Amino acid sequence: MAQTSVIIKFVGGTEQVTGSNFLLSSRDETGKDYQILIDCGLVQGTRKEEDQNWQPFPFNPAEVKALIVTHAHLDHIGRVPKLVKDGFRGTIYSTPPTKEISELSLHDSVGLLDREAAKGNKEPLYESSDVETAFSRWQNLNYHEPLTLGPFQIVLRNAGHILGSAMVEVTVGGRKIVLTGDLGNSPSPILPDTEKITDADYLIMESVYGDRNHEERNRRKEKLEDVIEETMHRNGTLLIPTFSIERTQEILFEIEQMVEQSRIPLVPVFVDSPLAIKVTAVYKKYKDYLNTAAMKEAHDGDGIFRFPNLHFTLSTEESKAIHDANPRKIIMAGSGMSTGGRILHHEKDYLSNPKNTLLLIGYQGVGTLGRVIQDGAKTIKIFGEEITVRANLAKVSGYSGHKDSDHLLDFVHQTADTVKQVFVVMGEPKSSLFLVQRIRDYLGLNARAPQAGETVELRW
Ligand SMILES: [Zn+2]
Repeated sequence: MAQTSVIIKFVGGTEQVTGSNFLLSSRDETGKDYQILIDCGLVQGTRKEEDQNWQPFPFNPAEVKALIVTHAHLDHIGRVPKLVKDGFRGTIYSTPPTKEISELSLHDSVGLLDREAAKGNKEPLYESSDVETAFSRWQNLNYHEPLTLGPFQIVLRNAGHILGSAMVEVTVGGRKIVLTGDLGNSPSPILPDTEKITDADYLIMESVYGDRNHEERNRRKEKLEDVIEETMHRNGTLLIPTFSIERTQEILFEIEQMVEQSRIPLVPVFVDSPLAIKVTAVYKKYKDYLNTAAMKEAHDGDGIFRFPNLHFTLSTEESKAIHDANPRKIIMAGSGMSTGGRILHHEKDYLSNPKNTLLLIGYQGVGTLGRVIQDGAKTIKIFGEEITVRANLAKVSGYSGHKDSDHLLDFVHQTADTVKQVFVVMGEPKSSLFLVQRIRDYLGLNARAPQAGETVELRW
């Protein structure tokens, strides 16, 4: 048999969490080079880090035949319209929910990136028309449905991270390379568990929590219930800053169950984020992509994400009217780190009252308003107005969307008999290196963290 060679270029999502972007190339049967790309994500972080988004791709987009998208988070899809703008003419593949959520998310990001560009005196990264062109080339590929692209055979497997999220199995010359994308923190309240991979020859895996475990995972629902009860008992308002994709739907599903089991008082619950509302509709549409418990809820009675006193406030008028409702209420709004969006209006209105609670359920990045509040600031500024923080601050940390260190190691263990090398990516360097060491020490496998921009050639 002829020798096979695959060249992997670690373009982005290497030595950093965000900006996922991997180029694979191999020779097809006519001896020509055939290139495919996995993910094309935005770098998210400090201003300097985000400048990378405006850099040209270190390959020719016109020569790439196909792009396979793991899931709809911006750090995996945010540069897709730029790829199209820069000359990519191939086909884009993802699961149907990933395609729909990506479309909502990318259109939502255009205005945001325009404002960022204006601040830094830069050209907009892309225009709405580039987003539209991208979707004219975007095709559905379901889990387990085989696809042949030149020398590559592709199969998507469920990653259990957000609705429609996938791992990409790439088989070439009889060997299998698995790119994990982001790996879900299974069991999730609403998604199926991450599929088992037992026959990979090479793994390219994420490591966001490579050096940490989720300590509160088993108690997260109890803690959420406690915070709701305490706040309603004080006749207060509970504010929950959330991300629009997955976290909002998870928390909503948990609250829905508490309401249906009469575990919490029946108070109004507002989902006050246009993007989150639209994404929730996609979750309802693709109920067969949910886990058994959520699917049962979706098919029974009045359906999922629907219960008495739940309000989706799409318009600005509806959003403003929330203020007039009885103070005993729950408001979920974006953004998850209070860096923008409608949550700021609510924080301005509610944080000065000691009856109210601000519940943080996710990581708050350094430099964000969410982080400033989490660190205990007594006064903050919102829209130029000084606010004294008197509301209660609560935190439930078990709702991460990523596997923790122990579960990442378990994931590798399942395929330890076949795997020849593990490339650890998509993590802060200390997190990736810690996981590399654990894989070497506990499983005795060949593992390493590639450098950003590195090219690796695999031969067999
Ligand atoms: Zn993700």
